[in-house]
Amino acid sequence: MNDTDGPTRMPFGPDPIYPDWILPVDAAMLQYGIIDEPLFFIPDEPAPEGSPGSEGSSSEPKDPYHVVNACYDYLLNLRWTQVYEDLMSRITDEVFYVMFLNRRALANLNQFLSGYVGEIASDGFDPDEASLADLFVRDGELKRVRPPMWARRAVFYRDRGRCTACGTDLSGLIDTLSVGNYNHMVPLARSGLNDVTNLQLLCENCNSQKSDKVEDPSNRYRR
Ligand SMILES: [Zn+2]
Repeated sequence: MNDTDGPTRMPFGPDPIYPDWILPVDAAMLQYGIIDEPLFFIPDEPAPEGSPGSEGSSSEPKDPYHVVNACYDYLLNLRWTQVYEDLMSRITDEVFYVMFLNRRALANLNQFLSGYVGEIASDGFDPDEASLADLFVRDGELKRVRPPMWARRAVFYRDRGRCTACGTDLSGLIDTLSVGNYNHMVPLARSGLNDVTNLQLLCENCNSQKSDKVEDPSNRYRR
């Protein structure tokens, strides 16, 4: 919708020479089986003025923005529909699945988000949001939260049970899922989030050396 040149379209239909055009959002919903046929077709473009063979009354004024406007109206209304909700949910799951493997991308994301957390004053909440203030230990710093088991498992298996900094195998330890090995890439003291996307596996040695420093996440990946 931000594309000032108008909506992007993609060819659609059985005829590759004279394809119909549909919007990418319809193509995505078709691909996922959320809808059975496109909900919207690009309206025909008006023929150039005065060109021979133009149908209808040529004296009628043509709207050069009719395609853009039609798509804009469609997208505006689509955002409130269940099929769109379903599409967003599917895309979110897929993006998370891919993104979760990439610690550097996640660290960048959390670095970005910490900028917002850092500006939050714990007494700045409305009275009906008072419980949110309890999440903070001081302005701009969230309290440490014990990662839930699902998050610890996810990080443990993503990082292959090894310290992401030195590669020490942690999988043989009895307490592989002890909280101490789960390190915040962006430290809480630097407005980092208690979020599964901000965790990485570190051995106790590396974890104690890192303390509250922000370091580049390891780019060590096991094939
Ligand atoms: Zn280590």
